[in-house]
Amino acid sequence: MGCQQKIVIIGAGIVGASIAYNLSLRDARVTVIDAASPGMAASHASYAWINAHPKPPRSYHDLNRRSMDIWSRWERQIGGDAGITWGGELRWTVTEEGGRGLRDEVGLMQSWGYPIHLISPEQLREMEPGLLADPITAASFAHTEGHVDTSVVISRAFEQAAKRGAEFLADTPVTGFSAEIVDGEPRITGVDTQGGHLDADVVVLAAGYSTRKLASEIGLDFPQSESPGATILTPPMAPIFQNVACVHTPRDLPDPQMNFRQMPDGRVQIHGGTHDGSVGNESLEDAESMLAELEKFLPAIAGASVDEWRQAMRPMPGDGLPIIGFPDLKDRPPNVYLSVMHSGVSLAALVGEVAALEILDNARVDFLSDFRYARFVRSTAN
Ligand SMILES: Cc1cc2nc3c(=O)[nH]c(=O)nc-3n(C[C@H](O)[C@H](O)[C@H](O)COP(=O)(O)OP(=O)(O)OC[C@H]3O[C@@H](n4cnc5c(N)ncnc54)[C@H](O)[C@@H]3O)c2cc1C
Repeated sequence: MGCQQKIVIIGAGIVGASIAYNLSLRDARVTVIDAASPGMAASHASYAWINAHPKPPRSYHDLNRRSMDIWSRWERQIGGDAGITWGGELRWTVTEEGGRGLRDEVGLMQSWGYPIHLISPEQLREMEPGLLADPITAASFAHTEGHVDTSVVISRAFEQAAKRGAEFLADTPVTGFSAEIVDGEPRITGVDTQGGHLDADVVVLAAGYSTRKLASEIGLDFPQSESPGATILTPPMAPIFQNVACVHTPRDLPDPQMNFRQMPDGRVQIHGGTHDGSVGNESLEDAESMLAELEKFLPAIAGASVDEWRQAMRPMPGDGLPIIGFPDLKDRPPNVYLSVMHSGVSLAALVGEVAALEILDNARVDFLSDFRYARFVRSTAN
């Protein structure tokens, strides 16, 4: 017997897709609304590395780890072969100081039980003979990490949700909300879109970077970092990696720091930069020069062109941690579920599963307690 609440999810990126899928498993009445086409914002530009490395504090690391551990199950549930490439992540350093830093980080990760270990320069070269890695002062391999093709996952999840009755409205920006006071609380009763009004018993805000603006319209303010991101993709190339899925160039070299991966169809995707901003945010020329830079580490990339240049703002709450859940605060709408996060690809498998418990069963998942909206509200206010 399906749940009779009308649940409107705003945002059809990978987070909205996971929530819609998991709600539909319970036969909930779900409508997903997106301002554009599904999956074309941060989820499209994403480097889509599935990892928990190192991602402090411990509770955030554990959250990512828990999600990593169920990604393959989610892939099977939505029909299998959703473009995940497991194989692990490889990185190395070139300075003594960088080497000490990497050894410390590996030690910390191991004390948290994370499967990562140091490898010798010879092992690195044996694993990936195509890399030009010299000198090497330390190197590590995290064998449970991987990456995913977000477009495949999103379309599969929505296909499955649609089979179970979920409805989708693309090209339909949400412009506002209707509310009424119920028992002294400002309860949201529906959403206004450019295509008309929709009634809702529960509204899920999964609009990525735009969640902050939508939330602020209903009194849910939170700080957000301005973090423009970009990745580039080459045309399909012959297989580059022998063993690993993701490689990071040395972080103790002058910028750009680069991460690269090869997708199942042969395209190589490259991200350069940090969470403060990506190389290629501002111009295609920067992106092209980064590709040229990558040749120093990966000669096989020589002559490759930029086939796609993807840009998006990261959905990054001010403290870098996710916001997941109902606000659970007096004077805030009790029926708005927030789900905004960076590392949304790593976290997607888990977030939909736990959101379904909190939305449909009114459960409160204890390991989400560090990621609640209430942390942004001064305790005296409530
Ligand atoms: C360059 C880059 C690299 C990254 N690398 C990684 C990585 O390696 N690993 C990882 O785990 N994470 C990574 N991330 C972060 C990850 O991609 C995001 O956390 C994740 O994609 C967020 O998904 P989402 O569904 O919340 O948001 P989005 O994918 O941004 O989707 C939000 C959706 O909401 C819609 N929307 C917005 N406003 C409205 C409105 N008013 N009405 C209706 N719809 C609206 C948009 O059209 C969009 O489709 C990276 C991000 C970037 C940009």
